[in-house]
Parts: sequence; C-alpha cells; structure tokens
Amino acid sequence: MEKFSATRYFDRISADQALDMLKHADLPELGERANAVKKSIHSNKAYYAVNAAITYSNICQACCPICSFYRREGQKGAYLLTPDDVYQAAKKYAHMGASEIHTIGGIYDKLPLEYYLDVVRSIKKADQKLNVVSYTVSECALMSKVSGKSLEGVMKLLKDAGVDALPGGGAEIFDESVRRQITPNKLSAKQWLEAMGVAHGAGIRTNATMLYGHIETPENVVEHLDMLRRQQDISGGFKAFVPLPFRQGGSRIQAKNSGVYDLKICAIARIMLDNFPHIRVPIPHFGDRMGQILLHWGADDIGGTHWHEEVATSAGAADQMRTEAFMRGIISGAGLEPVLTNSNYV
Ligand code: SF4
Repeated sequence: MEKFSATRYFDRISADQALDMLKHADLPELGERANAVKKSIHSNKAYYAVNAAITYSNICQACCPICSFYRREGQKGAYLLTPDDVYQAAKKYAHMGASEIHTIGGIYDKLPLEYYLDVVRSIKKADQKLNVVSYTVSECALMSKVSGKSLEGVMKLLKDAGVDALPGGGAEIFDESVRRQITPNKLSAKQWLEAMGVAHGAGIRTNATMLYGHIETPENVVEHLDMLRRQQDISGGFKAFVPLPFRQGGSRIQAKNSGVYDLKICAIARIMLDNFPHIRVPIPHFGDRMGQILLHWGADDIGGTHWHEEVATSAGAADQMRTEAFMRGIISGAGLEPVLTNSNYV
C-alpha cells in the first residue's frame, strides 16, 4: 500500500511535544500551525461526500456506557433489517444522488457471516457504483468469531462481496483504564490496531476515529494519536483521522462540551498525524458552523451528507437532510474550494 507522508513539509513532532502543545500552546498559534500543515497538503481544497447511512440493526450486546444508540434484543425499538430492506434503502439513496453508503450496526452474535456479506451485496446490487463503507473492526472480529474463519479470511470475503473501505469506529480512546469504563466489552486497543493492520494487508483502506470529551486526559489523547501514527507507519492504510466529540445523550457519562477543546484536538491531530492524508470533521457531529471553523484548524474534510445517520442523532445531534449544494455552501462559505469525494478519496 502506498504510504502518505507530510514530513516532506514538516518535521515529525514527538508525543511529548504534542502533549506540551495540547496543554500549553497559545491557541491562535496552534491554529495557524495546523492550518499551515493542512494547506501544505491540500492547499485551498476541502472535501465532502454525498452519502447515506443504512443502520441495518440497533441491537447490540456490548451495552457500552457511552452509547445512546443501542437496544437490547427484544427491547422496545430494537430492529434488524433484512438484506432486502437494505437493498431497497440503498436503491432509494442512489436515486437521491448518494455515491456512498455507510452501514451501521451493533455487536450481535446471532447474525451469521453470510448476513453481513448479503448486506454488502445488496448495496452493490442496488447500484454497483455505490462505495460501500462497512464494517467496524469490532463487527469484523465478531464475524470471525461466529464463522470460525480467520480475520484475514473475513476481510477477504468482505472485499470480494463489495466492501470498499472500513469506517474507523470502535477506537474510542486506546488507554485501557478509560476503555474499561466507557466501552468495557469492545476490542482492546491492541486488537483494534492489529485488526486495522489486517484490513490494510488485505488491501482495504480504513479511517480511524477517536471519541473524546468524556473522561479522557490530554495524555490519553496524545497516546491515542501516537498509537495510530505508529500503526500507520507499519500498515499505511488509514485515509482519514476522524475526531468525534462525545455527546452525552442518554449516557450516564458526563460530556465535556467545549468548542476550544474541539479546536485543540483537531489542530493537534493535524500536526501530529503526519502520515495521515486527511482529517475529517463530520458536520453531523460538530455542527455546520463549527465544521467551517475547523477547516481552518487542520481539517480538510467535513464528511458527508450522512442521510439518516442514527448514532449522532440518538445522542442529541440535530437530524438534517443536507443536500450537496448545502455541503458545497458550507465549504465555499469558509473561503475554500469544495471537492466531491468519498471515503477512499477517489
Ligand atoms: S458504542 Fe457500538 S458497540 Fe457500544 S453499545 Fe453502542 S453500538 Fe454497541
């Protein structure tokens, strides 16, 4: 896999330097530095996608304390789509102009591997041109467990079925003591990173997320970025880093809402992740106005229209049918040049 590096423009900063910046840097100077890195890679361009989310199920057995989205099996509101439901939804979104579908689901061990493959095949059957972004590595690990196949084997089958990229969900914060409190039943940090390496080895590009604004410390943030950077040095398949601000919603974990913290996280990520081509700030999570500002704080991508995204809205984000013209307007309103793309940036 061809590896990206921005160190031809800037020297790599150490984790200690990043921590010092996160804690003590002068805010405008931090923003300027992050914006300089962003501009050296992407000049005046900013990216967006026209995409939709198909939530094939909200049933999840992981029951993470941070999550407002999941339902237990049999609980009121729990649902599971059939592959035909997914086909109908994908067809509708393709007609509406989407060029990409993200699937969203939980950890539910009653689904056989074939179900996941059929979901992907259904999307491709609806329109072969749809870029399919499925599944988190937590879901992939579950597929491996229920099918008895290796993770490598699962990745290959997913790719053959039509998966074009993996989302980067499930990373949360890598520090294990924080993980035990916010998401005790997910993959460990080591397992998550190794699984990403397997995906990259299978030729599947992926994103990488970080959920922040809960109980993490600045040290946890920098460690998370450092671990991603090291994995990227090895496997090279991450396309975008996606910071996600935690929203409390119905969760019992308190959210630290702070626009300044959003700016700092975005800037530090851009400065530190010199081997990641893109920093994506999905506007369903950040809001349209903050999205515009973050495009001057190191981000180069406001994500997609994300029609019917349920994870952010279940935690209180406004549901909005954004059009392509709206996405372009957000970017041009920030003084930048809008570029239509998808999760693979092709
Ligand atoms: S965050 Fe993901 S794994 Fe955890 S409960 Fe929610 S859907 Fe399940």
